[in-house]
Amino acid sequence: MSGRWTSPLRAAGPLIFVAVLVCVPLFMRQFWVTLGNYVGLYSIVALGLVLLTGVAGQTSFGQAAFVGIGAYATAILSTHYGLSPWLNLIVGLALTTALALCIGFITLRMKGHYLPLATIAWGISLYFLFGNLDYLGGHTGITGIPALHLFGLELRNERYLYFLIWGIALAALWATHNVLDSRPGRAIRALRGQLEMAEAFGVDAARLKIIVFLYAALLACISGWLYAHLQRFVNPTPFGINQGIEYLFMAVVGGAGSVWGAVVGASIITLAKQVLQDVLPALLGKSGNFEIVVFGVLMVLLLQWSREGVWPLLARLLPAAPVMPVRAAAPLPMRAAVAGGGALLEVNAVRKQFGGLVAVADLTFAIRQREILGLIGPNGAGKSTMFNLISGALPLTAGSIRFCGQPISNLTPYAIARLGIGRTFQHVKLVSQMSVLDNVALGAYLRGRSGVLRAALWLDRVEEGRVRATALNAIRRVGLESYWHEPAGNLPLGKQRIVEIARALAADPVLLLLDEPAAGLRFLEKQELAALLRDLQSSGMTVLLVEHDMDFVMGVTDRLVVMHFGEKLAEGAPADIQRDPAVRNAYLGGVA
Ligand code: ADP
Ligand code: MG
Repeated sequence: MSGRWTSPLRAAGPLIFVAVLVCVPLFMRQFWVTLGNYVGLYSIVALGLVLLTGVAGQTSFGQAAFVGIGAYATAILSTHYGLSPWLNLIVGLALTTALALCIGFITLRMKGHYLPLATIAWGISLYFLFGNLDYLGGHTGITGIPALHLFGLELRNERYLYFLIWGIALAALWATHNVLDSRPGRAIRALRGQLEMAEAFGVDAARLKIIVFLYAALLACISGWLYAHLQRFVNPTPFGINQGIEYLFMAVVGGAGSVWGAVVGASIITLAKQVLQDVLPALLGKSGNFEIVVFGVLMVLLLQWSREGVWPLLARLLPAAPVMPVRAAAPLPMRAAVAGGGALLEVNAVRKQFGGLVAVADLTFAIRQREILGLIGPNGAGKSTMFNLISGALPLTAGSIRFCGQPISNLTPYAIARLGIGRTFQHVKLVSQMSVLDNVALGAYLRGRSGVLRAALWLDRVEEGRVRATALNAIRRVGLESYWHEPAGNLPLGKQRIVEIARALAADPVLLLLDEPAAGLRFLEKQELAALLRDLQSSGMTVLLVEHDMDFVMGVTDRLVVMHFGEKLAEGAPADIQRDPAVRNAYLGGVA
């Protein structure tokens, strides 16, 4: 964010926002209070979509149906059975949880467009269910819903209810903001586009997606509950697929990547709809839902102009918040050192076939403790495939791999990472909008425990402080301290590779797998990397290194394994390998 003026006043932004909110019911006309209530209700739903769609990349058209569950649950229970609205809220949340888990469990484990499709189907069917069941009042709906009571006060007046609606909206804003800035938040931000990487660091992506879906559904349900007690009447119309699309509009228009985007989007859409509904019929001389057409056009124009929605544009006009230093905290505890000498990793007759292509052909080698072993060979020799077999990203066709004497060939990447094998990727896999610190902290995912609930309530701060301190230590160790708060995508590619090393270090690995870490580095940076590897080695790390730069490899490794068409061509000390006629013929000769 260079070039922007920073100001400590920025921290007061939320306070100013709250102050303005409080002024609305105190000083404004009824019209604005009503509008404010709707913006609050919609913001709560849109906040869920910010997390679900904007950050995690999962699209749902069915949020209005969850709003309907919250509204209908309290409508039925309070009018038919005279139950307390607060009890009904709990029932509505339980019902929503059951439904969201069912839908999420079925659709979110599948890749592709199953979730959007399922949410459309679910949104439409629930709408017709509301409309066609006499028990639910059919299309005429349910009237006579009682007003809420809070601290003995009856919230019959919209101005009173305003405070409850916005109290809940602000709590949702705070909680969602907290989630984004936490251990699960980093993982959620990696779901869109960096799934493979996230899983390699121990993120259970399928489970996390379901949790995010549930989070969004629960917020929608709460909004529906409030809606029912604001209107004191429900019918199916506001819970149909049209409204579901409108909620998605709000999140996208506001800026689906930021919590403030939800409020901005809900405000813009609500205001615009109000204005257009008044202006268009007068202009066109007849009534109809013309505002939908105008919305569609405006949305396309907006997305051409600003992909990220309106909030980032507004934010650019505001002063940037000063960068807060990482607070000092004890780093996370380290794993106990691996006992004894001998082989740390044993690769035994490992084979990998992609259809008819044999990428790794019955390869056998071992890595000793505290050794830097180079794995070299021409392009396509099978080095990266070997990496992916060790880290569990690919299943073996035959053979076995043991780590610390334990077979790991059938374990998930998650389990292998937990045992202490850290890796970098040949094609850099960072979450580019996320800071270097957060990217590196994602490496420590398996060393933390905080989940979405704990993070939302800000009960994760002690652990989070330790995770950040650990990440900052790893960043210092690789010499990128001055970049820690930069978005990782802003760094040159060579430095991004080094960030990957820091992220692997944050996992506290015993064995580090580095796939072409020196690619894209300048001469001095390569020397620094070599020094770093030796430093790591002297502190007990074992390294498996794939690299094309022969000077670098010869200078830093203890031993080399040479691969050629998936087979082992030679193995030995760098000096011997350089002299090996077979290697010179197949590989080094060509390079020299
Ligand atoms: P290296 O890293 O040594 O350059 P790779 O391990 O990337 O080589 O590739 C080894 C061989 O396996 C190449 O011929 C490559 O095309 C093939 N290969 C790698 N990954 C896949 C895959 N997922 N599906 C099919 N073929 C693959
Ligand atoms: Mg490769």
